[in-house]
Amino acid sequence: MNIENKAKAGRPELPEHVRLRFCPSPTGIPHVGMIHTALYNWAEARHTGGTLIFRMEDTDSKRDTQESLDMIIEALHWMGIDWDEGIGKGPDELYFQSKRADVYAKVARQLLDAGYAYESYSTAEETAARNRAAGRPETFGYDGYDRTLTEEQKAEFCAQGRKPALRLRVPDEDITWNDLIRGPITFKAGSFPDYVIVRPNGEALYTLTNPVDDAVTGVNVVLRGEDLLPSTPRQIVLYRYLAKLGIAKAAPLFGHLPYVMGEGNKKLSKRDPQSNLFLLRDQGFIREGLLNYLALLGWSFSATEDVFSMEQFIEKFDVRDVKANPAHFDIKKAISINAEHIRRLDPDDFLRRSTPYLFRDGVVSAKDWSDLTDREKDVLVKAVPLVQTRVRLLGEVSGMVGSLLSTETYLEPAPDARKQLKAGSDEVLDKAIAVLEGVDEADWKTDTLHQVLDDELVEKDGIKPRLAFGPIRVAISGRRVSPPLFESMEIIGKPVVMARLAELRKRI
Ligand code: GLU
Repeated sequence: MNIENKAKAGRPELPEHVRLRFCPSPTGIPHVGMIHTALYNWAEARHTGGTLIFRMEDTDSKRDTQESLDMIIEALHWMGIDWDEGIGKGPDELYFQSKRADVYAKVARQLLDAGYAYESYSTAEETAARNRAAGRPETFGYDGYDRTLTEEQKAEFCAQGRKPALRLRVPDEDITWNDLIRGPITFKAGSFPDYVIVRPNGEALYTLTNPVDDAVTGVNVVLRGEDLLPSTPRQIVLYRYLAKLGIAKAAPLFGHLPYVMGEGNKKLSKRDPQSNLFLLRDQGFIREGLLNYLALLGWSFSATEDVFSMEQFIEKFDVRDVKANPAHFDIKKAISINAEHIRRLDPDDFLRRSTPYLFRDGVVSAKDWSDLTDREKDVLVKAVPLVQTRVRLLGEVSGMVGSLLSTETYLEPAPDARKQLKAGSDEVLDKAIAVLEGVDEADWKTDTLHQVLDDELVEKDGIKPRLAFGPIRVAISGRRVSPPLFESMEIIGKPVVMARLAELRKRI
């Protein structure tokens, strides 16, 4: 694949071989924001012919769960987002932070020995008291007090049984980087204090573990959410020290992806059901549709087209084209893009993917296409042309084909269908029954059925088509909106159609 190193509007050039990573923390369900980040990293890796690493930042034993880890992996598999190095493709000791405490301890020791980090005994209360005494605002935070502790002072703290945190020594200078998405960003000297990289209990923090892992695996491009932007200047300082220690080559390039906003201009929350990837799947999003929609959150394919394949996406995606302003998750737009991808499926594929939904909804006897009965397969194959273009989500297929598969002689009309049964429905049904009785089973075909009903009910008796066909549709489908009526009647067959017409007639 081609690397287009077009120096975009002052954005940095990409390294010759791009190495990216996706490194979630396993603390909850896979959500849209997380998958959006994974998708952009994956697309950039595939577009440039680079490498994607997948690791787990599971350093929070209270919040991390195996269940969350399993769900993240399942989500990536389902979406078709694959990785080149990482979990399952190398030693766990490299890709699970929970198994790397000794590595972080060693790096921390090196930073301490070189004077880039120092032991800090100040508690939050002591720091706050010093800030108050000096007339500084409480929000000032850590004041650098322990930078210059003497060996005697440290020994004294130790003797009191106090354990030090490790803080990074932040230089008194501006920190600047050229963000791949946002252009040059500067944090003025003094914007952030010497920050903690190891807790007094010896636990290494994200601020240390994340850059160390990026460094040892040669990550050179970091694409992550805008919420992490404030940590970037801190990490750049650390990278400089890691480079001096020979642990990192240099700081990676950074690109901070836009926020994904939900309803009412608020950041899409992890708890918002709209953001839960598996709930979207349950509704019947297919991976092509959802990936297409997620790709559009912060990026556009072209001025005129917004439906594209993954291959087209990879071909065109360049992270330097991503827009910095927040993107809005619009479920309606997502659904309409999904509908387009459902239409593009091969009919066989459409049926195979619909089957688990049909099974879930109690419409067929098995969740795999190959385990369906011959009759089920036969009906579904005939139904495809009527249904595939009419559903937007696979979860809608059951409602469309349920009446075709069922052999019930009465389908309870849905409330909105019942409203279609206006005055005169009884007469319409009587006439339809009389007319259809006269059609031989051998002639029970879409065109014939259409023609006789049209001739007898609409032309001859002057009944308006809506009034003529509404009650028939309700009788045979139980729904106000169904697949095309005459085609459905052909698929269902004469005996069941006649029985359903008679049964509804009896009940109104
Ligand atoms: N584990 C971090 C998160 O889930 C990733 C941070 C990063 O990409 O640098 O937010």
